Parts: sequence; structure tokens; C-alpha cells
Amino acid sequence: MIVEHRDKSSLAGVPGFYQPGALAERESQYFFHTYKRLALEIDRGEGVYLVGKDGTRYLDFFGGLAVNSLGYNQARVNEAIKQQVDKYIHLSNFFLQEPQVKLAEKLIGVTGYRRVFFSNSGTEAIEGALKLARKWAKGSQRRMFYGLSNAFHGRTMGALSLMDKAKYRDDYAPFVPNFGSLEFNNVDQLRATVNEQTLAIFLECIQGEGGIFVASHDFVQELNKLREKFGFLIIADEIQSGIGRTGKFFGFEHLGLRPDIVVLAKALGGGLPLGAILGGDRVAESFTPGVHGTTFGGNPVACAAGVVVLEEIVDRGLMKHAAEVGEFMKSEARKLQSELPQKISDVRGYGCMIGIELSEPGQPVADELQKRGILVNCTHETVLRLLPPLIIQREHCDIFFRELRSILS
Ligand code: PLP
Repeated sequence: MIVEHRDKSSLAGVPGFYQPGALAERESQYFFHTYKRLALEIDRGEGVYLVGKDGTRYLDFFGGLAVNSLGYNQARVNEAIKQQVDKYIHLSNFFLQEPQVKLAEKLIGVTGYRRVFFSNSGTEAIEGALKLARKWAKGSQRRMFYGLSNAFHGRTMGALSLMDKAKYRDDYAPFVPNFGSLEFNNVDQLRATVNEQTLAIFLECIQGEGGIFVASHDFVQELNKLREKFGFLIIADEIQSGIGRTGKFFGFEHLGLRPDIVVLAKALGGGLPLGAILGGDRVAESFTPGVHGTTFGGNPVACAAGVVVLEEIVDRGLMKHAAEVGEFMKSEARKLQSELPQKISDVRGYGCMIGIELSEPGQPVADELQKRGILVNCTHETVLRLLPPLIIQREHCDIFFRELRSILS
């Protein structure tokens, strides 16, 4: 159950919630009211389960919004963090730091990109990518950045300037100049708009917050052709879809794209804040000493955890597992759709990033699932977004679909 901070009347049936002195009451008193919290207090996480303070075990399809790819309380991540904490937690980026270099080596090795910059978060990686692209275009007539409709790139002003949704932008104008928005998957508009003044196009190939909409092959093919003709940069936002979640290391690999710059975050730090900008040959020399930086970005503890994340996902088979279990989830969702076509209008996505579009508001369904011990996020009003830890097994998916079938029927 999702609760508005000020809406205490709806909390009558939730034990312990908004009792004077309870955690939710204290939170509501002290925080800016930016978040809708779940009516739930978590004690700990175990694998694909979250355990409430009252001992209730919840099967978790939030997956920390695509952060907790290895599941909760993962022994190797915990061990790497503890070992690094005992050495140093922070030095500053004046110092060479072995965990950073190890993670960079691993990322470059896996992806074939040339350079990396570590940030703290996704939106900061987006900002850094904007700056990298501007440096690359220095001295040219290129000035226009384009984002695509319904995308989500974060909450900072540069990220918001790339986005079109009123929900995120309202009351924050004026935005950064020379930014435009193109309709997702509209090939004709793309062709008619881009030219020699286009600097870069940001593409979230599999839109996460937007409801798991996937870029079409036609759109991506046209984008490739136009890049060849006009020479702009393609910048992929893989913050949610990257690092193996979709069964391939990057979501764009499903679509035959090779972007010039890629931004990552979410799963990268194993639960600790960490983002990254990856750049290919075209931009490899565009950043020079002093032109970009961060105090905390590339924190050594987060990087030590990140090394384990990549080892598990790439070397120890979790990405392959995500592809397999994802296919199973998708086929089960499609089976349910064919049984209940009036209830489920679409099933989209890859691997462990699946959207089930309902023909009715999704939040009441998510609330009912929560009562039955399953946590799932509803996005875009009607889409149940499945982002489980990649360690999820078929038997967990069976539980989810059994309960969803029962609720929708
Ligand atoms: N880009 C995408 C695709 C995201 O899903 C998100 C977060 O949900 C962001 C950017 C912003 O990342 P952060 O919240 O780490 O700033």
C-alpha cells in the first residue's frame, strides 16, 4: 500500500503506521514530503525476500528499483565492503585508488568502451555526459541536445531539460537552452529534425519509469543512419536497463545499437551510490584534467562492491540466468494475458525488466499483492513493473503469477 504523507485517514487499517511516535509519523514530521512511502517497515533483506519488522516475509519485485540485482545480504558484496572499510572509506580523487581502477578495468574489459568517469548517481552521470558531449563539440556549430518523449533521466536541471513529462518538470522552468524533445519511436519526426547542428541524442532504449516501452528497431536503425550522415553523438541511458538486467549487459544490445557514450548507475555499486559515464573512441580525449570532477564519485567502498557485482553478473552467470528467468516471466505473463485479455493489455520488456500493462489502475492490484506478501511497483498508472533481483528463481515467479491470476480473476 502506497501512502501519501498527509493522508493519515487511509492508514487506519495498517498496524503500527502513523501511531504517535511511530517511524512513519516521525518521518512525516521531519522530511520534505517528496516521497510516497510504502506502508511497511523493513527489518532486513534475505536474497529475494524483504522481512518486515513484524516478521512478514515479502517476495520483492521492486529490487530496490533495479539496484539490488544480486539480492539482499549477498555474502560476497558484504565481505568486499567490510574489507574495504577496514582499509579506507574515502581518500578523495587526488589519490589513486585500487578499487576504482579494478572496477574501471573490469567495466572497460566487459564493454569495450575506452574511458570511464565515476559519479555518485544516475542523474549526475547524465550531467557529466552532457558536459562531455559539449566538450567534444567545442568549436563546432553543434549545439542541440535531444531527449525522447516519456524518458526519465533524473532530477537535476540538465536531466529535466532532456525530458518532456509535466509530472517531473512542472514549476521548474526555465530549463537549459538548446534542448529539444522528440517523440519516442517517431521515425519521420527524427528524420525531419536532426541536422548538422545536432550535438547529441539521449536514448533510454527500454524506458523504465515510463512503463517499460522499448525503442523500435526501425527507430534505432534510422538513428544509426542519421548519425552516420550528420555525425552527432548517441548517448544511451542504461541506468536502469544496464549491467545485465535485461539478459544482455546493455539494453541497447537487443536493438543493434552502439552508442558513443553510455551512462550507468543503480546496480553498479551493489547497493552503494555509484554511477559511471563510459565513452568510446570519439569522445575518449574530450575530458582533460580539471574540466570535470566530484568529491565522492567513485567511492572506494562502492567500487569494491561494484567489482563483485560485475563478477557475479558477467563471470558467474547471473546475466545468463536473468535472460532465462526473464523469458519464463514473460511467457507466464503472456499466458495470463491470453487467459484474461480484458485485464492485461500488454506485456513488454526483456530479462528481469518486464512491464505488465493492465487495463485498469495498477496501484490497487499492487496493494492487494502486498497483502499477499509480494511487493511490486506500479508505474505509468497502469503498469506493474517487475524489477526483481536477478537471482530470482522460477518458483518465485510461480508464486507471483499465482497471486496475480487470483487477484485479476
Ligand atoms: N535514468 C534512468 C533510466 C533512471 O531509471 C533513473 C532513476 O530511476 C535515473 C536516470 C536517475 O538516477 P538517480 O536516481 O540515481 O539520479
